[in-house]
Amino acid sequence: MVVEIDKQSGFCFGVQNAVEIAEKALLRGEKIFSLGPIVHNDKEVERLSTLGLASIDHDEFRKLKNCKVLIRAHGEPPETYITAEKNNITIIEATCPIVKRLQSKIKETWLKTKEGNGQVVIFGKPGHAEVVGLLGQINNEGILVSGPDDFQKVDITRPVYLFAQTTMSVKEYRNFTDILRFKMEENGISDPDMNLIINKTICGQVSNREPHLKAFARKHDTIIFVSGRESSNGKILFSVCKNINPDTHFVSSPEEIDKSWFKGKKSVGICGATSTPKWLIENIRDIISNI
Ligand code: SF4
Repeated sequence: MVVEIDKQSGFCFGVQNAVEIAEKALLRGEKIFSLGPIVHNDKEVERLSTLGLASIDHDEFRKLKNCKVLIRAHGEPPETYITAEKNNITIIEATCPIVKRLQSKIKETWLKTKEGNGQVVIFGKPGHAEVVGLLGQINNEGILVSGPDDFQKVDITRPVYLFAQTTMSVKEYRNFTDILRFKMEENGISDPDMNLIINKTICGQVSNREPHLKAFARKHDTIIFVSGRESSNGKILFSVCKNINPDTHFVSSPEEIDKSWFKGKKSVGICGATSTPKWLIENIRDIISNI
């Protein structure tokens, strides 16, 4: 049985950067906290906690004073930085630069819409840390949409400035923009593209993986998709593989591997999300190879 790891799977640039920043601080012997799990992968969080990285939630953060707190790749709203300053907390900045740029762009657009009649609409997952950070840039005055039915939240007679959370599905974002354009046409707006400003903000580290994973999933009898269950990018990329190859299995740890999946199979492909560490994928490869 051939067992192949997808070369593009593993941490994206933003997550890799955040993990390296944390590791360097821990190796210097610094006591640091991560505001929220540093990555949506329990195994990697466990590994870093053995090095001394403690995860805290926002309630715990507000009670802390005189310490160091790492902001993970998803970014944070401005209130977090204000609290840190008040409580003498040193921020270790690990927000992904792509998310930082998106935060600035959304804020800049929102300030412009205040002078006109426009509205900022964010296509993202309610409650997701990145979305909380994006909405925070604009005083929570943006409209959050997460699926086709949410077009009703948008006033299609006013200009719409549309942005997507970086890890959303390209296909679902396109569907949503098509619905808005269709509704505008239905309402007699002769040139919807003047009224609907679509910002292509899904990260290339996510969107480029979709076509690549489709080809990878097609190539193998069985696909093992490795990801934390909380990873939204993991859910999207898993369904990309599953749609192409129904014999795709989602696992978040080596213990979930079931020997019966490989009976009579000639080739197995192993891939994962942008939050899946390479060492975990390799670990799973070794277990499957032994089977
Ligand atoms: S998916 Fe893209 S935007 Fe999000 S953390 Fe990774 S590199 Fe940054």
